[in-house]
Amino acid sequence: MSYFSYRNGELHAENLPLSAIAKAFGTPTYVYSRQALVDNFSAYANAIRGNGRDEKTALVCYSVKSNSNLAVLNLLHSMGSGFDIVSGGELLRVIAAGGDPRKVIFSGVGKNHEEIRLALGHDILCFNVESVAELQRLNEVAGEVGKKAPISLRVNPNVDAKTHPYISTGLKENKFGIAYDEAFSAYRAAAGMPNLRVVGIDCHIGSQLLDDAPLLEALDRLIDLVDRLEGAGIHLHHLDIGGGIGITYDKDKPVAIGDYLGRLFARIDRWRAEKHGGAPIQVMFEPGRSIVGNAGILLTEVEYLKHGETKNFAIVDAAMNDLMRPAMYEAFHGVQPVRQRDAAARTYDIVGPVCESGDWLARERSLALEQGDLLAILSAGAYGMTMSSNYNTRGRAAEVMVDGDKMHLIRKREEPGDLFRLESLLPA
Ligand SMILES: *Cc1c(COP(=O)(O)O)cnc(C)c1O
Repeated sequence: MSYFSYRNGELHAENLPLSAIAKAFGTPTYVYSRQALVDNFSAYANAIRGNGRDEKTALVCYSVKSNSNLAVLNLLHSMGSGFDIVSGGELLRVIAAGGDPRKVIFSGVGKNHEEIRLALGHDILCFNVESVAELQRLNEVAGEVGKKAPISLRVNPNVDAKTHPYISTGLKENKFGIAYDEAFSAYRAAAGMPNLRVVGIDCHIGSQLLDDAPLLEALDRLIDLVDRLEGAGIHLHHLDIGGGIGITYDKDKPVAIGDYLGRLFARIDRWRAEKHGGAPIQVMFEPGRSIVGNAGILLTEVEYLKHGETKNFAIVDAAMNDLMRPAMYEAFHGVQPVRQRDAAARTYDIVGPVCESGDWLARERSLALEQGDLLAILSAGAYGMTMSSNYNTRGRAAEVMVDGDKMHLIRKREEPGDLFRLESLLPA
């Protein structure tokens, strides 16, 4: 991660020492590198251009749930990104960040009436529909407001993404999408509903995929379905392959974005040339983790060291409520001291102050530590802040974006008063 590197023995974000951020804003604090976000988004944009496409024929819709800070959304919008949302709240965030609702696709298995009305009111690009019952609800609500809802069906291609079971979504037993064998009849049903406009097909088979083979397998299954639909007079305007490309947490070696997109576009070009006289189909992507994951770290301070008979603990001021991934998926995050010490290392579990044994951030790391030291929990830009909670009445961390040698506070630390402001006592 070259955006976070040591200079004169001190870990920096871009050109700024992390200790300066701790001094200005305290800890725990999420720190993002603006340049990392730009470069990660550019990997997609450059591959799109390099394969002879523009925004009309290929669109990146960044997955808002991976990191939804307004400054992050605004930066990606300024680079031409659309957005993949999973709630009405995320749509309002995109709009508040200056994003374009006409480049928004709405995923998720449980869209309620209010969310559908909101999205229709803003003329979003597409609803990614996950069940026949949702098609019926969309048709009804669109009829009530006098619009035609643009829809895509999220098809479950039944391929094994070979990732953690909690982040695998493309197998038959998952709650997501419409079963592959039922998709054709669901499309026919949709085509017969007066207030729907059938525009696309999509899938999203899982997250933290290191290899693109399962994605290309899913693509083949979508292509077969598009051709069968074409035969039945249902013409699709776009194909959305979802997100899912992984990042390096430990020793993981994810496929390069340019290589993956090159293979994907080659397959699509061959198909369009052979079967559709070269007529293009718009291709969409929904990346989250591969854009923000390694663009962020969680900065935390060592409160206490506890050296025991069988284990040593470094108790830090960040906890599972700040970064859920270790407790939830036993996820690995690298840990680096902000200032390197010339002392003997010991093996530590890095744990937080929350009253749960699951409250750990890293296990068995060899570190030379003293009380008061700052640590960086690496690769924390995706599903870090967005999955955080207020458990133990802990205010959520501050967020800072570094740009060169400048730091910008992009979310203030929550104060305890913020946390119970919406609560009230019973009447006397
Ligand atoms: C979470 C999600 C994504 C983003 O996945 P990443 O693995 O972060 O790229 C994309 N599409 C849908 C429907 C999702 O739920």
